[in-house]
Amino acid sequence: MTDFTLGTLMDAVNLAEFDGRNDAAVIDELARTQGTFGAGKPPAHSGLVAWSIEAFRNYRAAWRAHQEAMPTPCSVPVRSRWKISHRRDAADHRGVRQYEQTCWGRRYRSEDDHIREMWLLGLTTPSGRPEEVTTAAANVAAFGGNGPPDQVRVVLFGATSSVAVPVLDRTTEQIRARAREKVAPRLLEIVDGTTRQAGRDCAVCPDTPGCAALPAADLLPEVTTVPGPRRTLSVTDLRYHQGCPARYHLRRQLHLRDTGLIESRPILIGRAVDATLRDRHTGRPRRCRPDDPAGEDVAALLKEDQRSAREILARHATLCPFPDVEEVRDDQHQFIVAHHTRLDVVFGGTPDLLYRRADTWVWRETKTSRRRLRRDRPLLRQVPQLALAVLILSAGAPGRSPGRSRVELEHLRPDGCALEELDPVNPAVVAEARKVIGELAGPLLGDTACAPGVAHLTASGRSAP
Ligand SMILES: [Zn+2]
Repeated sequence: MTDFTLGTLMDAVNLAEFDGRNDAAVIDELARTQGTFGAGKPPAHSGLVAWSIEAFRNYRAAWRAHQEAMPTPCSVPVRSRWKISHRRDAADHRGVRQYEQTCWGRRYRSEDDHIREMWLLGLTTPSGRPEEVTTAAANVAAFGGNGPPDQVRVVLFGATSSVAVPVLDRTTEQIRARAREKVAPRLLEIVDGTTRQAGRDCAVCPDTPGCAALPAADLLPEVTTVPGPRRTLSVTDLRYHQGCPARYHLRRQLHLRDTGLIESRPILIGRAVDATLRDRHTGRPRRCRPDDPAGEDVAALLKEDQRSAREILARHATLCPFPDVEEVRDDQHQFIVAHHTRLDVVFGGTPDLLYRRADTWVWRETKTSRRRLRRDRPLLRQVPQLALAVLILSAGAPGRSPGRSRVELEHLRPDGCALEELDPVNPAVVAEARKVIGELAGPLLGDTACAPGVAHLTASGRSAP
């Protein structure tokens, strides 16, 4: 199946714009060929087919309405990519002889090519892009084709809306000046950048195999190798797939919006507590006290839930690790990863707190609930985030740092609290973590259909009939 969300929409618009097919015929063919249009490419999931048909209708309506509203329309679609090339005879100090600037989107020009338009596409409604991005797009449209036009427009389109939004309309000279000021310094920063930071982008980075910043190991020796592109997996991905493979594919792989999702009250309480603790633990934290004020997210809860959240926060004071902390990872939201080389999967998770004490990195997960944890069920099975954290740390994360590490579960209830510790070097803990994550990851990796419904696992982790 294709994992390029906007690919099917782009192919459909190509058919309408370059082959002159009418919209109804394009939609028929999209549905009939499952988005392949007869080319030898992977078909789209039925959920993506339906989404792409709606997106195609929206695109065509937005495009027509926009061109009608313009004094000089850009009604001629441009097939070849605009590209700015800088070539030099000898390699520069970076060892590079050629630089290219291009922009992904759809291209149009006026009949006389005095005006060009670059359309930037997104998955939801047209949303603001940083000025560096729109100026870089305009710069490519101005100087990446045959001779510069007089004027360039940049238009934003979001696949769930039939209204496109023009965000930039400037002369070529204005764009040149703006690009020098806004885009050039950023481009220099990017081409000069040599820092490696392991994270979500490892899945698409060509340097991932053998990268010095990315810990690598055979995290799940019992899971069979399955061919396919490299991907990132978190516990959220694994749970989505366990609940409904189609939902995993549409929501987590294609990033299509989940509609009709209503969060439960305990989840909202947990999230409000997490947000308050995150705020308190940022900067130069002191030890939290039971009467410290709760954050805005707590104030937004129902009255009764606010009381529970405050009681839970008061319990945290007993387990707050500050101020005896040597270092906190700067970005509290960072995604800590390890590469499973044989499966070519980047496993990752975001700790609620990642701190160093006594030369040990501690990955802390905070979980809130009304009841105590069950003693008749393994802890790693009740909280799979801990299992994945154990595996990621056992591979040498964060950042391939040698030395000790530990996983903590801070369990907070309105009427009590507990701290559980797990050692990622303990073979029994690692074996249990491999079992828990392997039972979730195995069916996901082997699934090429992502059919709707309940996945291959029951809650206890055994194969369903
Ligand atoms: Zn604290």
